[in-house]
Amino acid sequence: MSCAPGLAEPMGRFQGVSRVSFIAPDAASSRGWRRAFEGLPGFRMEFTDTAELREGAGRAAPPARPDRAGLIVLGLAHDNESRGLRLLAEMANRSDRMEQEILVFAPGAAPRVQAQAYEIGAGAVMPGPFDAAEIAARMRLLQVRLTRRRALRRALSESLRASVTDPLTGLHNRRFALPRLAQISRAAVMRGEGFAVMVADLDHFKEVNDRHGHAAGDLVLQAVAQEMRRNLRTEDVLARIGGEEFLAILPGIRAEMAHAIARRICARIREAPVALPDLPRGLPLTISVGLTIGGAGLRSPEELLADADRALYAAKRAGRDQVHCHPVAPPAQAETRRLGVGG
Ligand code: GH3
Ligand code: MG
Ligand code: MG
Repeated sequence: MSCAPGLAEPMGRFQGVSRVSFIAPDAASSRGWRRAFEGLPGFRMEFTDTAELREGAGRAAPPARPDRAGLIVLGLAHDNESRGLRLLAEMANRSDRMEQEILVFAPGAAPRVQAQAYEIGAGAVMPGPFDAAEIAARMRLLQVRLTRRRALRRALSESLRASVTDPLTGLHNRRFALPRLAQISRAAVMRGEGFAVMVADLDHFKEVNDRHGHAAGDLVLQAVAQEMRRNLRTEDVLARIGGEEFLAILPGIRAEMAHAIARRICARIREAPVALPDLPRGLPLTISVGLTIGGAGLRSPEELLADADRALYAAKRAGRDQVHCHPVAPPAQAETRRLGVGG
């Protein structure tokens, strides 16, 4: 059987201690459950009953809800199952429901009630009679299930994060950036706001690799990524979309401000040589930036990128270490306009 990378690691046996909340149908059962289960290894226990929970919920400052735990053992009263089922429904609808397993103890419950409990979200239903050893065995099964699910969810969310992250710089990658560009572009057109798209490409980067080695080139890319991040706002999206090529998307910004930020990025890269192991005084670098301002009409992410690329190409052709924009904002006439260097 094949498994997605990142999801293939063995789970390992659960070694820790799980929290378990016992919610008995009444105070007397709660005392009985405490006597039966207290000291069971592998669990940290809390005991309460449905009435106590209801009172707590009614108070101005309710005590910490003891049922907010990974594992819950809920007892249904034989003569009033609906009260317990309502509580079950409440717990099963919580936003963190994937972080819990509920074992329902329903002595003498009709098959219809048992089915209902499963439908609502119970992990297991025990119709009784009360047998502490059997309940403990079921608790362990649910504990294993919960632990596995948690590990799987963690692995899945880590894989998702990794799939949209550039491992070298920690920035987003192209897969993340293009859908975000489409979103930001649509939102901007709807709100009648401007936004900017920048493609920044290091100048003569191949020479860095050729002269100082690929590892030094990697250090340069990391340093440049950090410098770019420092010069953008938190709401701006920054991605590495090619070897030495970065994409920045700046929502809710006007053309003049976008130009100023792009020029500042050029200036910062020029003014801050990157220190390398064999070059402690730093390696001087420059970067060229192609800019396009969106918001006036809907362009696809591909069209926006193509326009920013055209501007980048013009910046390279004009001598590098500078910012160009395409299309040029009115009233300028030229197809691309040099915006100057030097910040
Ligand atoms: P220009 O000013 O025209 O952009 O020239 P350039 O040398 O920067 O551009 P070119 O496209 O000729 O070379 C880009 C180089 O980037 C070539 C490739 O070896 C290097 N590169 C691509 N990805 C990586 C990477 O992840 N690490 C390192 N160290 N180098 C990379
Ligand atoms: Mg380059
Ligand atoms: Mg390039």
